[in-house]
Amino acid sequence: MEDNNRHKGMRNRLVKSLNTKGIRDTKVLDAIQNIPRHFFLDKAFEEHAYEDKAFPIDQQQTISQPYTVAFQTELLNINKRDKVLEIGTGSGYQSAVLAFLGARVYTVERHKLLYENAVKMFQKLNFMGIRAFFADGNKGLGEFAPFDKILVTAGAKQLPFALKEQLKIGGVLVIPVGDESSQTMLRITRVSQTEFKEDAFGKFRFVPLLKGKNSLLDI
Ligand code: SAH
Repeated sequence: MEDNNRHKGMRNRLVKSLNTKGIRDTKVLDAIQNIPRHFFLDKAFEEHAYEDKAFPIDQQQTISQPYTVAFQTELLNINKRDKVLEIGTGSGYQSAVLAFLGARVYTVERHKLLYENAVKMFQKLNFMGIRAFFADGNKGLGEFAPFDKILVTAGAKQLPFALKEQLKIGGVLVIPVGDESSQTMLRITRVSQTEFKEDAFGKFRFVPLLKGKNSLLDI
């Protein structure tokens, strides 16, 4: 696959439209301007890769809509060198956005095939700042905790307890919580060892955060 001026032009238009929709963080917009989203999609979607839409990837999962990626990333307020845990690697696109912003990314995926494909893509694009794991993200990644930021890119019925516990004090967790039809975007800040502050940011629709991990190819 190549990344040519036509792709760059399409990205430029996407960035302008995200800005119109309210994304103001120039670093986030710059990341979207620079990362070739079409690399993370099936070749069949190349012409559509810069529409502000979610698209199917393998295993009945989706790559999030660029607006959603930008919105969640903006809420995280990433600083260079932040240690960031992402639950739901999927295509790997969101991990690439975080790495572009200078984060040290730990990303977890429960589908073996998606995990393997994402690892290949990170190697191909030479993203050194991303470590990928095949595991159940509900448990977080205890051996690497605590994290400055945690991002969940699948819809959770409830807040997984382990994730809050793996935040640094002052750390931020961004997670969509609700039933399958729609979730509220929550930003949870760990104020102290025992206190958490919660802010809500509108409705989104994600594929569900599931339990356990899955090595099968057809589920
Ligand atoms: N961040 C992704 C979005 C992928 S959609 C991207 O940029 O493309 C959400 C992903 O979460 C799916 O790939 C799904 O398999 C994964 N997922 C769902 N439940 C999970 C769990 N418990 N642990 C890890 N990953 C999970």
